[in-house]
Amino acid sequence: MSIHYLKYFVVGLILLGVQQVQGQQPNYVEGDVIIKFKDSSDIATRQSINGGSNTIVLQGVSGNVQLQLEKSFNNFSIQHYSSVEEQSTMEIIQQIQDHPSIEYVEPNYLIQKADIPDADIFTLSEVQALQGTQGENRDPIHAKDAQDILSQNNTPVNVAVLDTGIDVEHEALVNVIWTNTGEIPGNDYDDDGNGFKDDINGWNFADNDNDLTDCDGHGTHVSGIIAQTANDLFSENPDPHATSPIQIMGLKFLGCDGVGSTSNAIKAIDYAIDNGALILNNSWGNNVYSYALHEAIARSYYAKTVFVAAAGNNQANNDIEPFYPASYPVPNVISVAATDLNDEFAISISNYGHQSVHEAAPGVRILSTYPDNQYALLSGTSMAAPFVAGVAALMMYEQPGMPGFQVKNLLLDSSEQLPGLSDYVEGQRRLNALQAITLAQQTPPDYNVPNYQMPRAPSSSSFASQLGGGCGLVSKMYSDMSKIGSGKKSGNHLPKALFGLMLAIPLMLWSYLKQQALQTSKRAHERYQVDVSAQLSVDNHFASAHLFSISQGGAGLSVGKSTHLKKGDQIDIHLSSTHNEMVTFSGRVVWMSAEGKVGVQFKEDVSWMTDLFLAWNLETAKERC
Ligand code: CA
Repeated sequence: MSIHYLKYFVVGLILLGVQQVQGQQPNYVEGDVIIKFKDSSDIATRQSINGGSNTIVLQGVSGNVQLQLEKSFNNFSIQHYSSVEEQSTMEIIQQIQDHPSIEYVEPNYLIQKADIPDADIFTLSEVQALQGTQGENRDPIHAKDAQDILSQNNTPVNVAVLDTGIDVEHEALVNVIWTNTGEIPGNDYDDDGNGFKDDINGWNFADNDNDLTDCDGHGTHVSGIIAQTANDLFSENPDPHATSPIQIMGLKFLGCDGVGSTSNAIKAIDYAIDNGALILNNSWGNNVYSYALHEAIARSYYAKTVFVAAAGNNQANNDIEPFYPASYPVPNVISVAATDLNDEFAISISNYGHQSVHEAAPGVRILSTYPDNQYALLSGTSMAAPFVAGVAALMMYEQPGMPGFQVKNLLLDSSEQLPGLSDYVEGQRRLNALQAITLAQQTPPDYNVPNYQMPRAPSSSSFASQLGGGCGLVSKMYSDMSKIGSGKKSGNHLPKALFGLMLAIPLMLWSYLKQQALQTSKRAHERYQVDVSAQLSVDNHFASAHLFSISQGGAGLSVGKSTHLKKGDQIDIHLSSTHNEMVTFSGRVVWMSAEGKVGVQFKEDVSWMTDLFLAWNLETAKERC
């Protein structure tokens, strides 16, 4: 057996050697970290930051780590830092992740806009000529019918667009741009004391100023879609003085390349909450879980907002490979997929997930505003999400005080069910603006916002720290191997299976050695502390769970207190890696705790679990580094 493992190990070392000279861009801001301290009132931490230099020094594993405070979130408990001494993010995390004052530390992950970059651009007269040739305008969601039943003179609803900026002077948008009435323009003073000078229409978190110029076009296009749920943007004489039911707050956090950071996304979310936005449109994302971003979205839930998010454009199954922020399971998050010109699922574009994607909306060749008084056709779930955001805003316009989670529930209840969506979208739902607004008009607000339980913070004793080399080794192994695995661009075409095997090789040896050492152990199987989302199924009923430990003989899961599970139940546990591989373990519930934890004994020993699971953990560990 040892010879069998050794053979793969040697092959792996050779291949690693071949690849190790090639570098790879990290998917986070190098030198940055986001930290949550266990005690936000920690006097020493506060004093060191308030001392004027805005730097803190933390004792690391093998030396001090000096960090510069960039921004505090949520009343000081979470902070964004950058390295003072040019340490890499991985070095910083490796040094301080087990620091007794730190609850969690994570990289500042990069995020991208979520559209298909293929814009057809027009002037207004060209748009009007185009509409003339098409005869009846396509409006599957009945947005125009919905406009006819809107109330007059209610209080406008503020919609925050977290994106690449907005052309605030666009002829079709001047009437819908939010204005901060507490701010005097151009006096270089923070008149309303909200922490931002001259934030007249929002804020630019990418450059930390008030210039919302949209050098990409994505944010202006998204904004126009939101606006057109309430107004006809393409008429010849739009009345610039009419009061729009929707006001759009521009929160630029993606740069001209459509890329931004998690820390700036969090800043934008907090700005939206603090400055009166009730809807947040998020046509962006990535595949990396961030606890800090999850917490920020939970704050937006308690602020009674709706958090609308694009499901992503990778034709991927979000049930298995989550796309964030759409996949954060907070009750005010709506994950939106795209339908095509035939009102069918946009299979060539959209992500899907019949357990985690809530609703579909039009997302192919959508006409909307583009910078410099232009108009453009764009496609993607980026374009589908703002239809939902606009309709959600109109529901709140009709029913002031209705909290975000209730708006979401009514939106989903009022959707049309299209049989063609059954494999792709929960409840086969497609947005219907008329039915949604009608239902909102008929339903009184529910002022009781239920408690939302965050999962526990990522464990600092996760697999990354169990490996001798820590994050540096994990990252290097993963980075080297990813070069081979992502052969599309470089011209390499090594199959994914080989990539997976290579990923597992050093771990196979490691796990073998560990098993040998454990022969004297009292425990039947080595138990691994893990941190993984899972799905449970009992008689074809699915529920979310959190896997916190696993061995070859069984698993420990958090299932929430309201579970209907009982001892002796036969259940299946479905786990997926971040790279779309999925496995199912069958077993029975052998213990339960009052805190909603259950122990499951597997039907049979799963000796293959160790290798597979450690390989997955390497991927996860790398992404946490
Ligand atoms: Ca201000």
